[in-house]
Amino acid sequence: MVIKKVTVAGSGVLGSQIAFQSAFKGFDVTVYDINQEAIDKAKARIKNLRPAYHRDIAASDEAFDAGLNHLTYTDDLAQATKDADLIIEAVPERPDIKHDFYQKISTLAPSKTIFASNSSTLVPSMFAADTGRPKQFLNMHFSNQVWLNNTAEIMGSPETDPAVYNEIVQYARDIGMVPIQLKKEQPGYILNSLLVPFLDAAEKLWINGVADPHTIDRTWIIATGAPFGPFGILDAVGIRTAYNITAAELPNKPELQPILDKLKELLDQGKLGQESGEGFYQYPNPEFKQPDFLKG
Ligand code: NAD
Repeated sequence: MVIKKVTVAGSGVLGSQIAFQSAFKGFDVTVYDINQEAIDKAKARIKNLRPAYHRDIAASDEAFDAGLNHLTYTDDLAQATKDADLIIEAVPERPDIKHDFYQKISTLAPSKTIFASNSSTLVPSMFAADTGRPKQFLNMHFSNQVWLNNTAEIMGSPETDPAVYNEIVQYARDIGMVPIQLKKEQPGYILNSLLVPFLDAAEKLWINGVADPHTIDRTWIIATGAPFGPFGILDAVGIRTAYNITAAELPNKPELQPILDKLKELLDQGKLGQESGEGFYQYPNPEFKQPDFLKG
């Protein structure tokens, strides 16, 4: 099957980006959300992407407008699913909501439709039975700012049909992503399987009093040539998200409690990272961008 009509379900932070990027690359995209209020928010979010598309990928106004013209919006799930070749699910990261969503669309969507989840932490075998079509179900995980940070991590369950997997790899390429092909299920995919332990290790060095955040980052930047250290990355991810990820790990890793307490202190002081202008660094000109920082 050639994918032509795409529905993105859940039009929050990531869903709105995935929908617009697909439309920008010429696909007809239906944006579904639960009510008119959510849809109005999605329209505003998508409209607000224009400066970023200009700045980051030199998109012209004409190209951006052409993308907008490929989008339609609905809060009617039957309408949203009835003719879709592909449904990309970006509803909240809550298993109850996702189970319910897949059970609903399992009967509404035609048998041809492929379902792909953008879940960050939940593997596809958790929902395969709900979909009524486990062979046509897999995860396709985008990174925030999809037009710029353009990985699509593609991960099937043991039941996913390899032909469907390959169609999604092609779709990822067609919308300007670099498809990252996982051979088996892995919570956290590749990126977060690397990143989360790296950030945990940096936070432990800090909490245990081995070194302060700037020294830890300086070490990483000088020794590896990377543009950021772990605390610069935490500021970019956002301290709220870092807090939520650490809180989710806590039941299995109680030793992270002091880190959680420190992140909470930052949140209480309104230091949310780049988005609030201060986290471990001050923005827009963080110390790690200044030449003296690396001299120590
Ligand atoms: P969000 O809270 O910004 O958006 C969720 C949207 O889903 C909202 O618009 C909400 O109205 C809608 N929604 C709620 N219930 C729904 C339902 N039953 N059916 C359809 N829509 C419903 O969330 P988000 O950050 O965009 O995350 C969505 C998914 O994308 C999650 O699975 C998350 O793990 C994943 N993800 C998020 C990021 C990120 O950086 N935010 C990155 C990669 C993947």
